[in-house]
Amino acid sequence: MDFRDTPPQAAFRAEVRQFLRDEFSGELEPGAAGMAAWRKKLVARGWVAPAWPKEYGGAALGVMDQFILNEEFAEARAPQVGGLGVAMAGPTLIVHGTEEQKQQHLPRILNGEVIWCQGFSEPGAGSDLASLQTRAVRDGDDYVVNGQKIWTSMAQHAHWMFMLTRTDPAAPKHRGITYLLVDMKSPGITVRPLYNMADRHDFNEVFFDNVRVPAANRVGEENMGWYIGTTTLDFERSNIGTVVGHMHTLRSLSKYVAEHRDDGRTTVAWDRAVRMELVDRYVEARVGRLMSYRVISMQAQGRVPNYEASMTKLYSSELTQRIAGTGVKLLGLYGQISSSRSKHAAMKARPTKQYLYGVAITIGGGTSEIQRNIVAGRGLGLPHD
Ligand SMILES: Cc1cc2nc3c(=O)[nH]c(=O)nc-3n(C[C@H](O)[C@H](O)[C@H](O)COP(=O)(O)OP(=O)(O)OC[C@H]3O[C@@H](n4cnc5c(N)ncnc54)[C@H](O)[C@@H]3O)c2cc1C
Repeated sequence: MDFRDTPPQAAFRAEVRQFLRDEFSGELEPGAAGMAAWRKKLVARGWVAPAWPKEYGGAALGVMDQFILNEEFAEARAPQVGGLGVAMAGPTLIVHGTEEQKQQHLPRILNGEVIWCQGFSEPGAGSDLASLQTRAVRDGDDYVVNGQKIWTSMAQHAHWMFMLTRTDPAAPKHRGITYLLVDMKSPGITVRPLYNMADRHDFNEVFFDNVRVPAANRVGEENMGWYIGTTTLDFERSNIGTVVGHMHTLRSLSKYVAEHRDDGRTTVAWDRAVRMELVDRYVEARVGRLMSYRVISMQAQGRVPNYEASMTKLYSSELTQRIAGTGVKLLGLYGQISSSRSKHAAMKARPTKQYLYGVAITIGGGTSEIQRNIVAGRGLGLPHD
């Protein structure tokens, strides 16, 4: 077990740190202009989409260098700017798209001109995604799409959607699905907001009423969409950004406690149990980091993490909730304030916000129960329930 970088990895880490020292002062200038300037700097290095091949504007980094980049960005709290276009639509097009689709979409994904949303989940198809029912029927040069998607993040801002549709209802469910790219301005699309428990409009319902989608916007073969939807490049999946974030949060909480121990603004000073709880979270955060290292070391050896990636997602998402719970408890009554604008808000209400948002992370990207099922079957060898 040797956690040290090899000389080339150390050199790359030094390059990333230098870049962050030179270009990132701790936070971006407010507003869209700050983000656009930051994106431009990342585009110049291929670091908006570090895994993409260079010919498409990426940096063609291997998994270890992507890991180092992600770890250093997370340590510096420097934002990465990709979004769903970089993470999902782009890689799918690079592998399965036509030349026209690549020319049309990839440059705009990289420079942030176009926002993408993901139209996969439906009211009756979430964990069991292959049960999706939104229909696409071929009519001349178009598909005609009817149905409904749900939980579509960013659909209210998105210019394009990549979506899964049912083209052959008679086929076994994984084999009758087609992958389409849909212009969100197409007639017949209605986006309705859904508000989450933090009262934010992050996701939506999207309705399709006879929406015509050119067949040229199909990615891959008809009825092969399920397999196209699972395409990824050689991405690092260690979740290192999340676990570094845990350490940041715990350091901020500890600093806050140290600064406010005598003014009654935390419960830690008088409640030893909360102090012990904070230590437990710290130990867990260190365990989470080792789980991330395990995943990345498997990838570095060319192995594909399977239940190990599920364990890491399960553990770190539930740990995010536990840390937020400890933070809220530690702030005592101030922990009930969720508006950073309140003059009584402690730590700009960050623990309370994290407590509210944290609910979503054990659902999105595969629920905790689904991850546990994967670990049960593939990790422990338990029979299916
Ligand atoms: C913040 C957020 C953003 C999202 N953004 C998007 C998006 O942009 N695009 C998109 O397409 N989707 C998005 N989703 C949807 C997400 O993919 C689904 O919520 C997720 O797949 C779970 O599906 P579901 O909500 O239908 O729950 P269901 O699958 O109906 O599950 C309900 C409950 O039953 C449990 N359960 C289900 N099956 C099993 C089983 N076999 N064994 C044991 N327990 C089981 C689940 O764990 C869960 O507790 C988002 C979700 C969230 C929370």
